[in-house]
Amino acid sequence: LIVLFSFLFILLSISASYYLSKKMMGPIVQSWNKQTEFVENASHELRTPLTVIQNKLELMLTSPQEKIMNKFEHIALSLSETRRLSKLTSDLLTLARADSAETQLEKKDIEIDSFIEKVSLPYQEIAESQEKAFQMELQSQLIIKADEVRLHQLLVILLDNALKYTEEGDRILLKSYRSSHDLIIDVIDSGQGIKEENLHLVFERFYREDKARSRETGGTGLGLSIARWIIHAHAGTITAFRNDPKGTVFRVTLPAEGK
Ligand code: ADP
Repeated sequence: LIVLFSFLFILLSISASYYLSKKMMGPIVQSWNKQTEFVENASHELRTPLTVIQNKLELMLTSPQEKIMNKFEHIALSLSETRRLSKLTSDLLTLARADSAETQLEKKDIEIDSFIEKVSLPYQEIAESQEKAFQMELQSQLIIKADEVRLHQLLVILLDNALKYTEEGDRILLKSYRSSHDLIIDVIDSGQGIKEENLHLVFERFYREDKARSRETGGTGLGLSIARWIIHAHAGTITAFRNDPKGTVFRVTLPAEGK
């Protein structure tokens, strides 16, 4: 009987420790896998422009006597890949700091409507030069506590995308308004839109619906994941849905803290 009880006891201990280790180690293993995936993706993204630059430089070295003007195409491409690399490294740094909770928000009172107007001014000019309609309906009349640099970064990401994923003749509409105790900012465009089944994926790191198009426009696939981090750090939400009849709506909701 003692042997039987000891055996049962050992069996119970083994299954309990197996269950506990799985439950406790699960999230650690999961986050480790995510980290590995992030590093793998980042390395791949960094390697691609580096390969292009290396090839172009090697090609130019094969004919050193040729005039610089004849090498214009190689130089221009290398330069645009260098810009991509620079954007990529700064985006990666932002996310790495966000992951390690190193970044502290420096909140101050921001008069939201005039802030949005100021940030979007250059985008309005670019839109006009690209024959796109740019409209603003800024009606929140709110002052909110937020980190100015981060809020600026968020708007730039959304406006950049609105310009990147629209064509001549399309429309971009920027709205701010209140909904009970929240501030809502909508960035609406009538561009190519995002497939319904992919809407929830666009906030994932490195996700792009169309890799070629994103690369062409200098995208890194990290903008919206940075936007999501900024908004979560401000205790808000960000969602994407389809615009009617075409295009995309990005909706940011921020607590207005009763101000
Ligand atoms: P990227 O640098 O590729 O623009 P983002 O993280 O900003 O990276 O966006 C992820 C993907 O979401 C884009 O590659 C694109 O497929 C899609 N996307 C983002 N904004 C828009 C938009 N306004 N219209 C259509 N697609 C968009």
